[in-house]
Amino acid sequence: MERPRAWHAVSAAEALAALGSDINGLSDTEARRRLDAHGMNRLPEQRSEGPLQRLVAQFRNPLIYTLLAAAAISVGIGHGTDAMVIAAVVLVNALIGFVQEGRAERALAAIRDLVQPQASVRRDGRRQTIPAEAVVPGDVVLLEAGDRVPADLRLVEARGLRIDQAVLTGESVPVDKAPDAVSPDAALADRQSLALSGTLVTAGNGVGVVVATGAASELGRIGVLIGAVEPGATPLMRQMQSFARQLTVATLAVAVATFGVATLVRGYPLDTAFMAVIGLAVAAIPEGLPTVMTIALAIGVQRMAARNAIVRHLPAVETLGSVSVICTDKTGTLTRNEMLAASVVTAAGTIAVEGESYWPIGAFTAGGAVLDPASDPVLEELALAAALCNDAQLRQQGESWRVDGDPMEGALLALAAKAGHDIDAARTEFPRRDAIPFDARHRYMASLHARPGRSPVAFVKGAPERLLAMCTAVATPEGTAPLDRDAWARQVEALGGQGQRVLALARRALPPETGSLDPSLVERDLVLLGLIGLIDPPRSEARAAIAECREAGIAVKMVTGDHAATARAIALQLGLGPALRTLTGADLNRLDGVEFAVACRDAAVFARTSPEDKLRLVEALQAGGLVVAMTGDGVNDAPALKRADIGVAMGGRGTEAAKEASAIVLADDNFASIVAAVREGRTVHDNIRKLIGWTLPTDIGEGMTIVLAIAFGLTLPISAVQILWVNMVTTVALGLTLAFEPTEPGTMRRQPRPAGEPLLTPGLISRILFVSALVVAGAFGSYAWATARGLSLEAGRTMVVNALVVMEIFYLFSVRYVHGPSLTWQGVLGTPAVWIGIAISVVAQIAFTYAPPLQVVFGSAALAPAEAAVAVALGPLLLVAVEIGKWAVAKGVGGART
Ligand code: ADP
Ligand code: MG
Repeated sequence: MERPRAWHAVSAAEALAALGSDINGLSDTEARRRLDAHGMNRLPEQRSEGPLQRLVAQFRNPLIYTLLAAAAISVGIGHGTDAMVIAAVVLVNALIGFVQEGRAERALAAIRDLVQPQASVRRDGRRQTIPAEAVVPGDVVLLEAGDRVPADLRLVEARGLRIDQAVLTGESVPVDKAPDAVSPDAALADRQSLALSGTLVTAGNGVGVVVATGAASELGRIGVLIGAVEPGATPLMRQMQSFARQLTVATLAVAVATFGVATLVRGYPLDTAFMAVIGLAVAAIPEGLPTVMTIALAIGVQRMAARNAIVRHLPAVETLGSVSVICTDKTGTLTRNEMLAASVVTAAGTIAVEGESYWPIGAFTAGGAVLDPASDPVLEELALAAALCNDAQLRQQGESWRVDGDPMEGALLALAAKAGHDIDAARTEFPRRDAIPFDARHRYMASLHARPGRSPVAFVKGAPERLLAMCTAVATPEGTAPLDRDAWARQVEALGGQGQRVLALARRALPPETGSLDPSLVERDLVLLGLIGLIDPPRSEARAAIAECREAGIAVKMVTGDHAATARAIALQLGLGPALRTLTGADLNRLDGVEFAVACRDAAVFARTSPEDKLRLVEALQAGGLVVAMTGDGVNDAPALKRADIGVAMGGRGTEAAKEASAIVLADDNFASIVAAVREGRTVHDNIRKLIGWTLPTDIGEGMTIVLAIAFGLTLPISAVQILWVNMVTTVALGLTLAFEPTEPGTMRRQPRPAGEPLLTPGLISRILFVSALVVAGAFGSYAWATARGLSLEAGRTMVVNALVVMEIFYLFSVRYVHGPSLTWQGVLGTPAVWIGIAISVVAQIAFTYAPPLQVVFGSAALAPAEAAVAVALGPLLLVAVEIGKWAVAKGVGGART
């Protein structure tokens, strides 16, 4: 594009002409050409941390400082080899952290790319949904409530269009937009005729022509990032980081005290004492834990993405695991959102409609006999209304027909075509002059059409109760007849009872001069044309997912804008019943505080609800101590989505506003994906607990071994560099495997974890202490055995090092099944990750024990087969002891959570 122009000051027609476009939009070929010329509609990437910075960050860690200081002092006191070992370990640790964090980061970045905004454009005169990135200057963009404006637009049409421009101008209140030119020197905030990239449509709809994309847009110039996935630490990670800090401080204090006791009380030589406390610090500081936790979370995020749940807000990974109630909408989430108009009811009676998906062919039958739609003027007009009061577009793609826009409206287009209408011709013959868009609050849509040679007409379609209240008569082949509201209400109930979604259609002839619509024109004196019943089959996987929720102690509530009878019928088909308390928004409004809370807890179906009802429902459930996941798609759902513990937006049909307010976005809009995400959330939480439950006893056990040895004035059973060795081998090869653990069987048969439960539950703490004690006993025991056999110091310590690693390997199997016994066939088989980890540690231990260079560096010595066997035997011994402990706790405390 040339220099930015004052697009707001020229007329819409001039803007279109200047951009070489018109109201039908660009052609596909022209759009492609312009995409090549102008580039993608993308803001320049914000520079993230470079690899060098990430590598440097690995060294910014108190443990590393301690180790580097220790290495320096070691050189000073003549322990050159030890200094080198320490330096090598520091380097290896940093490199592993660097590589793993890089992997985690890349995984998260890849997920960020999955939530790509879409835009509706008109090209070649047809509405199309394309990635917002592919929008080019001159494109004609259609805006609706809930959309993020994809590029800077000069408005051509606007109906009740209000836009929230806070991102650009900081104004907190949405502003009205209109296509009229404004003064050339209007400030950015006052350019009423522009819709600026990145701002949010809060109401109404409009059409605009793109004047600037990407970096050339106003947003691009100031460089704000919108709707990005939020990074940040999760509550668990923060809990863990502060715990690790406390443990570090405590360890350093114990180290200083131990050093004092060693030198002053026990008379150890200074350098021995010094190396011992270094070993202690290395052992007890859980340096690898935060990194491994990040990896576990990243893996959870990846697994959720593979199950179509895209995490936008990292803490959601954990919260998902504790969800105790899921409030889900019906249409498209529990049902397939593949609509088919199956019945029509007019004053003459009920007509069945045949057909499949959105194919525009199918017969009408009444009482078993095929009916010629041309012979029924009411049916014809009803079908015309369905085609005109409609924003969707059908398109044949290979063997199937697809909808651009609302699937329900697509089904209405198919119906109109079956009734003999040519949609494009009808839309040309009866051009639309104005429209009131559908809104979940007023539950109808209206459009105003010119009619050649006749006065204009408004067609209205919407929820039947709403429309029946606005109608005064019903159309008949002869003209009109009085309306029997009760009889029609029974028809609605009957269709709804079969699970059909019911729409009513009506018309009102208006005076010739009418050029625009407002609610007062369509909310009275309508003539009812009839009802249309649409079937939308339940998703079979939703039924299974609901059953899974029941086992997992998660309540499922259907919250829909649809009619109570329809909602109830679908709920029954999905197995939400058998006892189904159904409430409508109107019922909810009649209830006061306590009754409301009880109703929210007990009812399973909430019909004809408004977005405000959703918000009240979330708040009432949360007040009852529940952790709530709530789905939503509309712009008005944003408050409820934000308020819920887990806001779930629909990736397909959801508005940008809903996606941005949500913690997760469902790529396939499917209820089953929410449940899959909950399962992964529980798995991540389990794995993090496993990591902690495995890491801490080893760390504490090694640390305690040194403290006790010094306290009793014994020879240290393990040296500082040997502790470094054990930590490196085990955290890298073994600990990391826990981040990859699959879901434990029975995970979805447990009740949800209580909200706010601390990471270190009393059960976990007592197990950590128990296993730490076993590790200490194993270390001293094997050393004592070696001494009793008259082995050298080196051989004794080598036995201890091997015993520690073997115990950790066996303990790993115990930790892998927190919620059940580990000595099962499944448990023994393990995962490939586990076996790779074990293979690496075994090879490393053989090298440590028998390879001469390592013997020199680490002070190890070769072991005779009997000695090696004793060290190895300690592993199964520990496993059996831990399993007995698990079993005793389960018996004694009645299945207390460990
Ligand atoms: P749901 O929870 O099923 O998605 P909605 O809030 O979308 O419910 O719709 C509520 C009711 O509004 C529907 O049952 C239908 O009667 C009516 N409705 C939905 N979409 C439209 C539309 N595009 N035009 C007219 N009426 C609609
Ligand atoms: Mg809907």
